[in-house]
Amino acid sequence: MVRLHPCPPVIYHKIKPLGLYLGKISMTITPHLLAGSAVAAAATDNLPIAFFLGFFLHFLLDALPHVDPGTFFEIENNQEMPWPTWIYIFAAIEFIAVCLIIIFLFSRRPDFGVIIAGGIGGIALDIIDNNPFLRFIHQWPFFRELHFLHHKIHYKLPARKWYWGLAPTLIVAGLSLWYLSKF
Ligand SMILES: [Zn+2]
Repeated sequence: MVRLHPCPPVIYHKIKPLGLYLGKISMTITPHLLAGSAVAAAATDNLPIAFFLGFFLHFLLDALPHVDPGTFFEIENNQEMPWPTWIYIFAAIEFIAVCLIIIFLFSRRPDFGVIIAGGIGGIALDIIDNNPFLRFIHQWPFFRELHFLHHKIHYKLPARKWYWGLAPTLIVAGLSLWYLSKF
């Protein structure tokens, strides 16, 4: 299991204060979840298909330049440092908040199940792969390949260019919410 510790000060002075602030509040799962829901709602009535659409869409979105906590915790030689605990707490709060918004907005729709299945599919890869309690599954066949592919495909935006990723991140989340709200 990976040991979590506060972000070493060395990375902090490399990042402009605004970037650091935005990194702290940047979306970790919202665009993935909303995009999975939107694409599933647009494409299918079938729950497993909805889940897998969200799941595969995750790779596509990770390949775009985007801001996520990883942006601020990448070290120069392509290695990642362990994320500090507050990121996981933030992600859990973000997850609960997005779920409450989705329930509030869409729970009366007939395709609510598909919206949920697509959304869960959209974040499933991050739950499996970035879970500090499940690091051991990276040793297992299939999960090892999945982890490799997830990291390989991920667009590595340098921390000092974090703002390049802001627009795609906001556009994906905004368009998805707009699409879901159309009905
Ligand atoms: Zn990911």
